[in-house]
Amino acid sequence: MLFLLRTMIKYLLLPLGIIHAVLFRPRDEILILMYHRVDDDVKKELAVTKASFNWHMDYLYRKKYNVISMKEAYSMISNDAVVGRHIVISFDDGYKDYYTHAFPILYRYKYPSIMYLCPGYIESTKRYWWDHDETDFRLMEWKDILELNESGLVEFGSHTMDHRDINRLSMAEIEKEIIESKNILEKKLGKPIRHFAYPRGIYSEAGEKLLRKHYDTAVLISNGKRIGKGIKKNQTHALKRIPVLRSDGRYLFVARIRGWMAIEDFIRKCLFGCRYRRRA
Ligand SMILES: [Zn+2]
Repeated sequence: MLFLLRTMIKYLLLPLGIIHAVLFRPRDEILILMYHRVDDDVKKELAVTKASFNWHMDYLYRKKYNVISMKEAYSMISNDAVVGRHIVISFDDGYKDYYTHAFPILYRYKYPSIMYLCPGYIESTKRYWWDHDETDFRLMEWKDILELNESGLVEFGSHTMDHRDINRLSMAEIEKEIIESKNILEKKLGKPIRHFAYPRGIYSEAGEKLLRKHYDTAVLISNGKRIGKGIKKNQTHALKRIPVLRSDGRYLFVARIRGWMAIEDFIRKCLFGCRYRRRA
């Protein structure tokens, strides 16, 4: 019921979003899409079906979107060279279905993507708190990650050690989450880890200070800074991502890419914004 209501509200807000996009949408922009799972059997908003994901990638291909890596996005931002529209495809949490379902589709299009990992969960018996009643909560093992690393199409970023809310941790714990996760990933993958995703998209000021010293970029969700022409070099550690949801279907996916979901985005931003203010 709630789901139906939410979907209806999204469609009702679309005309306003279209007007907003026509009037205000920048021509030069990098959109970072946020995925979590690609699995038909996991009935959650953050799990899209294989058919949907395939359609999304096909849409980007047909519409000739320039899909770039996070490294290229950072280079455009730091050289003040965001020209035209580009897409970065990102995944969080290191689920096995990235290896089994998403990557083969991405590989067909030769699209780069970035996966943000929590090393504390890889090859451990722990499961994420939201997966306690889930039958399929499998994560990638190091051998899967190393194989993807060899493909040259996948970048890996850190998503902290243990997926804890940084705002609730002491400085020593924040350092462990941010620096130790990076060290472990670098050692395992044999390459520098330059990108970070805040767990649950929750911003932390103390976290950002530390992230600036150790990473090139850090991503949030709707509450982050959008990447357009003129984005400042000091805004790279709280970047916006666009969530792609199971209930979106084809039309709302297109709407997100084309900037027609601006009103829903704004509402999300307010909700997230309030959350930090309460915590601060
Ligand atoms: Zn996560």
